Amino acid sequence: MEISFSTLETPQGEVISAAIRDVSDRRAFERRLAYQATHDQLTDLPNRELFTQRLGRLLHGRLSVDPPVAVCLLDLDHFKYLNDSRGHRVGDSLVVAVSARIGRAVGSHFMARVGGDEFGLLVEGLAGPDEVLAFAERLLTSFDQPFAVDGIDCYITASIGVAFGDASDRVEVVLSNADAAVNRAKRNGRARVELFDEALTLEAAHRIATEAELHLALERGEFHLVYQPVIELDGARWIGTEALLRWNHPEHGEVPPVEFIPIAEDTGLIVPIGRWVLEQSCAQLARWHHDHPELAELSISVNVSSRQLEHDQFVNDVARILRETGLPPGHVVLEITESFFIRDIQAAVRRLHALKDLGIRLAIDDFGTGFSSLFSLSRLPVDIVKIDKAFIDGLGSGYDAVVTAVVTLGVAFDLDVVAEGIETEAQRDRLVDLGCRFAQGYYFSVPLDPGSVPGLVDRGRPTAGATPTGRGW
Ligand code: C2E
Ligand code: CA
Ligand code: CA
Repeated sequence: MEISFSTLETPQGEVISAAIRDVSDRRAFERRLAYQATHDQLTDLPNRELFTQRLGRLLHGRLSVDPPVAVCLLDLDHFKYLNDSRGHRVGDSLVVAVSARIGRAVGSHFMARVGGDEFGLLVEGLAGPDEVLAFAERLLTSFDQPFAVDGIDCYITASIGVAFGDASDRVEVVLSNADAAVNRAKRNGRARVELFDEALTLEAAHRIATEAELHLALERGEFHLVYQPVIELDGARWIGTEALLRWNHPEHGEVPPVEFIPIAEDTGLIVPIGRWVLEQSCAQLARWHHDHPELAELSISVNVSSRQLEHDQFVNDVARILRETGLPPGHVVLEITESFFIRDIQAAVRRLHALKDLGIRLAIDDFGTGFSSLFSLSRLPVDIVKIDKAFIDGLGSGYDAVVTAVVTLGVAFDLDVVAEGIETEAQRDRLVDLGCRFAQGYYFSVPLDPGSVPGLVDRGRPTAGATPTGRGW
């Protein structure tokens, strides 16, 4: 009810009038607006806004917060992929199903949907990190059973990051700490819980700085490529080179790829950077072919990230680069890590066939570190398998059988097998005994500047007695 009074001077004296209005509708409308502004329409859970407000009140509404509030961020693994491949309607139904199930597991703790596939929990009253960890791990077990979506059983996992906050902490800091912890859970293989710690603060600051610098590195010309020979063991012929990216940071000098490639992948920057790598390395090979007829059989191997392969333009880019450089497509090898195949094998196979149609060759990189089954090997249109260095390091102490198995597989599926990271003569000899035909490693040569490649191939190095000719891949 809204009542308004007004006074009126009349010759008979003052008159007071009152108007009374029913404002129920307006109030209901306002309440609905307020609710909508703070809740997610799809799941009806509180949204990020309310989550942040609530955390602020928990941290700063009292003099002390003891035990600290645990902020858990739960992020669905590979959700974007499912959303893209099965459609948004299916994605939405899955989010609803997941929110209902974790809602039950969460009990009375505050829960919100803080992003498309991200839920936030405010957990109060748990004594310490161990208890919170146990709580978060129990949450993950709710993902053991499939979610029925659209009549299909859908398996999905989640990663959880946990950060603690007390009265002295700013809300944004606690949230970004929890974020850093989720990111670490993703990097460490997903479907797991990570607690925030100080190392992560430094790491997070470092990542943010690196991200900003990576943005500029391409236009500032801070990248260059080095080339590592791929050797045919029988006769020690140099038959190919792998292009490896180097970043010459203006202050820190050379930054190793393991430090910046994951960041470039997370931010999507790997797409333009990877395109540059492909352009540069193919142009380089075309120059070698042109200037040194004896190198005509040399091939180039280029590392390609999943993010690049998933990009719609990728196949077009490869086709354009082949056209522009005039390279025989069979001399271009794209190296793809196992993890690309395991996400959605059917979609991956379609993409790879489109690339194969261009005439290029495909290699599985770091084989043995992921989950490729023999079955997937037989279905994938790949030409080359690269055995990870970890197995080569283990030669003589149990990994011989693994290498033998991969070599046997190679024969069965008509794949060339390359052993990576050979550092000693003993390893080389052992590989020859086991029937492995191709290899790469410091024993033969470290990655080289492009200028020194032709001379070395000409002189039959890097291994004594090598001849530059012979069958390329
Ligand atoms: P990778 O594809 O497995 O490359 C092989 C790595 O092993 C290279 O390290 C190489 O220098 C190193 N290596 C070769 N022989 C030996 C050896 O005998 N002993 C030892 N200890 N190491 C050896 P690098 O250049 O640091 O590259 C690391 C990773 O970064 C690569 O692993 C690849 O996954 C990624 N990478 C490099 N360049 C690119 C690129 O242009 N694009 C993408 N997407 N990833 C790249
Ligand atoms: Ca590689
Ligand atoms: Ca590798």
